[in-house]
Amino acid sequence: MRLQKYSIGTGDRFGCQGKAQLKAIIKAHENGIDIAIVWNKSHREHLITNTAPSDVLEEAQNAVKDLDWKGKYYIDADHVGISNIDLFIDSSDYFTLDVAEYINKKASVAEINNFIEKHEEFIGEIIISNIKKPLKINKTQLRTIAEKYLFAIKEAGRMYRKIEDKKGKDNFIIEVSMDETNKPQTPIEILFILAAIANEKIPIQTIAPKFSGRFNKGVDYEGDIEQFSKELEIILAVIQFAINKFSLPDNLKISLHSGSDKFSLYNNINKAIKEFDTGFHLKTSGTTWLEELIGLAIAGGEGLELAKEIYIKAHSRLDELCAPYASVVDIDTDKLPDPEKVIKWTSEDFARVLRHDLSCTYYNRDFRQLLHIAYKIAAEMGSRYIDTLNKYDEIIGSNVTENIYERHLSKLFL
Ligand SMILES: [Zn+2]
Repeated sequence: MRLQKYSIGTGDRFGCQGKAQLKAIIKAHENGIDIAIVWNKSHREHLITNTAPSDVLEEAQNAVKDLDWKGKYYIDADHVGISNIDLFIDSSDYFTLDVAEYINKKASVAEINNFIEKHEEFIGEIIISNIKKPLKINKTQLRTIAEKYLFAIKEAGRMYRKIEDKKGKDNFIIEVSMDETNKPQTPIEILFILAAIANEKIPIQTIAPKFSGRFNKGVDYEGDIEQFSKELEIILAVIQFAINKFSLPDNLKISLHSGSDKFSLYNNINKAIKEFDTGFHLKTSGTTWLEELIGLAIAGGEGLELAKEIYIKAHSRLDELCAPYASVVDIDTDKLPDPEKVIKWTSEDFARVLRHDLSCTYYNRDFRQLLHIAYKIAAEMGSRYIDTLNKYDEIIGSNVTENIYERHLSKLFL
């Protein structure tokens, strides 16, 4: 199973927007962008929304059938670990092995020494085409990298073999993620992470490193755009070097997590992936849920009431909602609109504060981030939330499709 050059992960928290999401992919195809759709959902999301991986598969199959989609699609067991992977094996064919929690746990002395010995040839200068200055590493630095990452990659190897045992070789796609950490990985670290992945014989097709700057959920990138672009180009060059050097799959590409809404980066990413003639996977999830809320607000009536209720409840449960997302949200509580004012808002008031339109002076990134993590409140509403989505599905669906196609796919890949 080989993932296409371009792909998007379209998470869908409540499982109602599969068709609207696929419509965006179809639109991209009509405009000449060949892109695969991957429905991703993490264990964390399943727990909060009380769903199972088989629900994601069913949603995908229904959307594909209803829209007569002949292209590829995948089901991503997103951010899985050894403790929950069993739940995902049957219904998924794409596995994002999350090793972030194992970073800094040390492998055995013998394993570390073996790794250093095996890669001793790199000590000194590493000349990589497309990078102006050679990368440099000494033996102590190589040991530090091995101590930091080798155990984590061995853990990924264990997970990979568990999946392979059950699904058979080449019947699924593997991504390795380490984005939910505090510190970004450096290009030289990524080189040796890929070496360790190759040693474990993991046929990795996408890798999700942590980049510098803030990738907060649902809002634009916050950091130095030039710095990010330089870092991206070096990492792309390192990946190309590693593919050849370690015989990794030649379609290995970057997966950008919390990748939705990073509008200020898309132009530079578009340029870089074209220059390097490489693929790219954009992983999104909450941006679709936020479009559901915008759609509900615009619909008015019960829809608007529900959207307001979700915000008001979220405002009173801020710390609890933020906790599982600590490394990927950054909310300035002083800038959150007062619930007593929100209760009086019109459809347009709500939509313009929430919609990710940077040219609109009413747009509020803190409001948007809080609602991004407030899907737990909607999940608690159960059928009341789902029934209201169904009632206004047309207006909601058109928002979802437009958001994915216009703001994301056309900017990144066209
Ligand atoms: Zn992630």
